Amino acid sequence: MGLLEHKVALVTGAGRGIGRAIALKLAGDGADIAAVDLKPEFCAETCDMVRAMGRRAWAYGADVASAAAVEQTVEKALADAGKVDILVNNAGITKDTLLMRMSEADWDAVLNINLKGAFLFTKALARAFVKQRSGRIVNIASVIGLVGNAGQCNYAASKAGVIGLTKSVARELASRSVTSNAIAPGFIETKMTAVLGEDVRRKLLNQIPLGRLGSAEDVANAALFLASDQAAYITGQVLTVDGGMVM
Ligand code: NAD
Repeated sequence: MGLLEHKVALVTGAGRGIGRAIALKLAGDGADIAAVDLKPEFCAETCDMVRAMGRRAWAYGADVASAAAVEQTVEKALADAGKVDILVNNAGITKDTLLMRMSEADWDAVLNINLKGAFLFTKALARAFVKQRSGRIVNIASVIGLVGNAGQCNYAASKAGVIGLTKSVARELASRSVTSNAIAPGFIETKMTAVLGEDVRRKLLNQIPLGRLGSAEDVANAALFLASDQAAYITGQVLTVDGGMVM
């Protein structure tokens, strides 16, 4: 019996990378998956993989930064799956450049997707969670939201914002047994980090006590724990999954 038998999880940015790994990990422990990405075809393959594991899956195309799209998606997911028990706010982007070169558009795009997107999905599902007196919210932040990074003002602010959102929602919804936690991954091997040069990669490795970049599965393992009943007494926390880089 898996940890998530009879649960439904909605995962944003489930088309690839960490989001896909989380969807598959939760499905592996019994959850049905509502997979959200910019276009439904982006997460169709994730859904096929979930179905091959014997679980139900639905693909939804939505821009997490659009309130109307998020509300429609949540409505459809609740109708298709009958309920949602777990929300994983994972969709995120980077638009890196130094502060003095950063355009307003670079700032807005990152804040809108990484922070407002998490707010919109949390808000859209909060009523259902409160009504059913249960719910798990897992937000994918970043260690950059804890320590900052040159060239990532927008990204760091968005992820620090996600941490503030996580803690405030934890306080608001705790009386209904809804938990809200964040995972702060360090450097994880995905398309987002594939652009890093050899030099940067070597420097990074020197700062990671465990001596390797993380895998999407390392993050998914933490998401499974926080989404499960095993984490029922944990809320408002930030779990770093970074090989010991930030401690
Ligand atoms: P990725 O780029 O591989 O995947 C992100 C997914 O989100 C894609 O499928 C993309 O289509 C989707 N997406 C982007 N914008 C969207 C939008 N507006 N609406 C809906 N979907 C959208 O990235 P990843 O590395 O898997 O990162 C996933 C999350 O983990 C992000 O929040 C990222 O900030 C965070 N993170 C990643 C790392 C890392 O090292 N890769 C480290 C810390 C945190």
